[in-house]
Amino acid sequence: MKVISVENVSAWYGDFCALENVNFEVEDKDFTGIIGPNGGGKSTLIKILLGLKKPDTGHVKVLIDDKNTFGYVPQFTTFGKDFPVSVIDVVLMGLLGKKKFPYIGFTKEEKILAQDALDKVGIGHLQERRINALSGGQLQKVMIARAVVSNPSILILDEPVSNIDAKSETEIYDLLQHMNKDKTIIMVSHNTAMISTYFKTLICVNKNVYHHDKNEINAETLEKVYGCPMELIAHGKIPHRILSEHEELKNA
Ligand code: ADP
Ligand code: MG
Repeated sequence: MKVISVENVSAWYGDFCALENVNFEVEDKDFTGIIGPNGGGKSTLIKILLGLKKPDTGHVKVLIDDKNTFGYVPQFTTFGKDFPVSVIDVVLMGLLGKKKFPYIGFTKEEKILAQDALDKVGIGHLQERRINALSGGQLQKVMIARAVVSNPSILILDEPVSNIDAKSETEIYDLLQHMNKDKTIIMVSHNTAMISTYFKTLICVNKNVYHHDKNEINAETLEKVYGCPMELIAHGKIPHRILSEHEELKNA
């Protein structure tokens, strides 16, 4: 079953084209990796999937009818790390969008949901800790708990494991793999070692390329052309797609 269909999507910032004519689909319970060089358009693509940026052409069809479709872990945490809130408060923020009367405060049930979400990511014991007293790995787990507290069917993460230690990174991948049992997961990643182990499909995004046929896909050309970490695809046998961009840009 398909859950998302991206059709002829282009995205521009002013007169700069970040994505052109992107087409792909995401299957239910997929664990999709999005890779590509910096500036390739990965975050732009994610914002379009979430409806946070409107595509300039084409559209995204979300094919599930669900109260809580998306959970999102952004690339950059938008509140200051010194903001004096506790871990549980941050997780509760993940319920704000769903509340009818957000100014009334949280119910006991909602607090239990938040505690459960923290337990699921393995840091239930930290719920009263100020977020400025967390390690990078712990903070990312809090952000994941915040994203899943509303029990979304699709979880989207934008580089959630950059700048954290290897042990936390593995823990987070294991955690996501576990969540993948009942959620579709779409995740931007740079870690070459993790990709072949965890991802079921792979999407390469780079503004300087255009669509290649399946039979053109091999490790060397992809690494050269897309700047993607392709050695893992060579032995990982992961089905993957390349999102297209301007032919003119490529030849420019
Ligand atoms: P990635 O996440 O792959 O690093 P992004 O989607 O963040 O790439 O950015 C793709 C391109 O679009 C980059 O060249 C970036 O500079 C540009 N871009 C991203 N956001 C904006 C913006 N708000 N205004 C102008 N240009 C932007
Ligand atoms: Mg990005």
